[in-house]
Amino acid sequence: MAALTDYDCTRYGRQMMIGGWGVPGQERLKRARVFIVGAGGLGSPVALYLAAAGVGTIGLGDCDRPDLSNLNRQILYTDADLGRPKAEVAAEVLRRLNPAIAVNSSGERIAEHNIERIVGPVDLILDCLDNFDTRYVLNAYSVRHSIPLIHAAIWGLSGQITVLHPPRTPCLRCIFPDAPPREVFPVAGVTPGLAGCLQATEALKLLTGLGASLLGKLLVFDAEQMTFTTLTVERRPDCPACAGLIRT
Ligand SMILES: [Zn+2]
Repeated sequence: MAALTDYDCTRYGRQMMIGGWGVPGQERLKRARVFIVGAGGLGSPVALYLAAAGVGTIGLGDCDRPDLSNLNRQILYTDADLGRPKAEVAAEVLRRLNPAIAVNSSGERIAEHNIERIVGPVDLILDCLDNFDTRYVLNAYSVRHSIPLIHAAIWGLSGQITVLHPPRTPCLRCIFPDAPPREVFPVAGVTPGLAGCLQATEALKLLTGLGASLLGKLLVFDAEQMTFTTLTVERRPDCPACAGLIRT
């Protein structure tokens, strides 16, 4: 099933030319199952690029409907989609973009009681959310099942991204123990565009086995000054979410 067809080799040929990617990397992508939580500003570029790259099974979760004020950054949607469920529209767009992959979507709000059923067994989870309450639910799930979680968050023209896979790395709660208050914050479309492309890049690298990832590192960017800074992040010994895991 994961063997590449002629169609695949033509469609994905240019990325397969990258050193270390090749046929084995593309086969790994074809077999891969990822889940994207949040199909908004971050989730839009993440979903589009992972679909275009040929990730075999993409799950998407979003319980919202696009609003006119979303359209400066949520590039999966147009004016014609206002009021329709994001999960439904996003799945349609991805299937149109790449009919060779499987796309599943859920319009339920992800919470502790339903995350097992909605996300299920996947190779990678992408945190494209806009609030820390649901992020903590996602973090607990990823810790429980040892599934790598690629986190990103944005504000204005700045953003942050990291790859979490405890006990090799801290978990989200080690780095951000307390949820910042929910607010309507400023954001330009390019900010989640940048952060989402970085998330998708890290996802493709992890899935193909290419390069050095942001495991244990937090990349912070300020697009106003166009600075990118990489910080090392540590586990918190008293972290309520991951302290029980044995350090390896
Ligand atoms: Zn932790």
